[in-house]
Amino acid sequence: MKSFTNSIDAYKEAVDLMPGGVNSPVRAFKSVGMSPVFMEQGKGSKITDIDGNEYIDYVLSWGPLILGHADERVVAKLQEVAAKGTSFGAPTVLENTLAKLVIDRVPSIEMVRMVNSGTEATMSALRLARGYTGRDKILKFEGNYHGHGDSLLIKAGSGVATLGLPDSPGVPESIAKNTITVPYNDVESVRYAFETYGDDLAAVIVEPVSGNMGVVPPHNNFLQELRTITEKNGTVLIFDEVMTGFRVGYNCAQGHFGITPDLTCLGKVIGGGLPVGAYGGKREIMEKIAPTGSIYQAGTLSGNPLAMTAGIETLSALDESSYKEINKKVDKLIEGFEQAAIDFEIPLQINRAGSMVGVFFTDEAVINYETAQKSNLDYFAQYYRAMMEEGVFLPPSQFEGLFLSTAHTDEDVEKTIQAVNNAFAKIKK
Ligand code: PMP
Repeated sequence: MKSFTNSIDAYKEAVDLMPGGVNSPVRAFKSVGMSPVFMEQGKGSKITDIDGNEYIDYVLSWGPLILGHADERVVAKLQEVAAKGTSFGAPTVLENTLAKLVIDRVPSIEMVRMVNSGTEATMSALRLARGYTGRDKILKFEGNYHGHGDSLLIKAGSGVATLGLPDSPGVPESIAKNTITVPYNDVESVRYAFETYGDDLAAVIVEPVSGNMGVVPPHNNFLQELRTITEKNGTVLIFDEVMTGFRVGYNCAQGHFGITPDLTCLGKVIGGGLPVGAYGGKREIMEKIAPTGSIYQAGTLSGNPLAMTAGIETLSALDESSYKEINKKVDKLIEGFEQAAIDFEIPLQINRAGSMVGVFFTDEAVINYETAQKSNLDYFAQYYRAMMEEGVFLPPSQFEGLFLSTAHTDEDVEKTIQAVNNAFAKIKK
């Protein structure tokens, strides 16, 4: 059995210092019945906790580390740049360099604005869409997460396409009522929402592959239908590619599926493990932002040289073949999961888009929030704890995807498949 005594002690100290002992709720490991594991260092595909336990890491800081931990190119450049000063509050050419990389790779982006997180990107994109259209309401999808901005922390009202309800105390109802929520992959509900609220809808915001109810890809031309409906109604289509951006493919999910939104939100991989978000899109829309336009958005540390450097080095290290290589490892991993499920008669569904993988313990296809909820959470928690014991670090929630990096090796994947077999055997005991 692994020892977690140092983590347990650190957690005891932390709960007095920070709410729940953490700075982001999912790190509390609540849904898997474990005390949080405190990490000390990472290298490549491996991460080590403060008790000295090493794991193959499929969390990768929740997606950003597509090159794995402490990639030498990224670290060397960060050291060089840090030595010259960490923030100036004036433009640097590093910002131009990252902006050019983004504009070059993301089909919808003609101009971009850097911010510090995915949340900031989605909040700012919504303000821009509202300011640009002069409309107040937005449409989002059940089970999609877009950060913790008031307008986006909304659950569905009762019935299809009703006004939203606050998903957290502190979100005013007056804000929630401007967010319409409908089921993911459900074009009929979108049509209904447009018939009811079309003239008031500033934006539709969507994860082009949902990664926040586990991984759920789009079905039945969902993205194409959204493009057609929004175009017809003069509504801004926003792809929230905070998770999918530079992850699902070299040209993001929009390149992968061949659908071009009006605005795109980025985060995670664009910052290569440092705090970066961005939003961008059509020049005509982006120029409405201050100082060219009157829609206000700003940031003391936006475009920070260290953050830009991590992004530049990460994106520069990726080419089309990097994604092919990662995807081959993902193919092999999924095959291993599926065979183990057959061998141990475990109900299992695997959803996947590029190197985003969702593992659900159910026999039913997972296409939206409702079907994701059918996963057996008890199986998930048992599997999770067994995998930790086997030295595999996974996101501690059924409703999150796992990620691979260019640093993951065939040997990592083989070891992980063996771990899955051992975990499934334990579940079935
Ligand atoms: N959008 C999506 C699709 C996300 O997955 C996340 C974070 N998981 C966010 C927005 C919010 O990003 P951040 O945590 O950087 O604020």
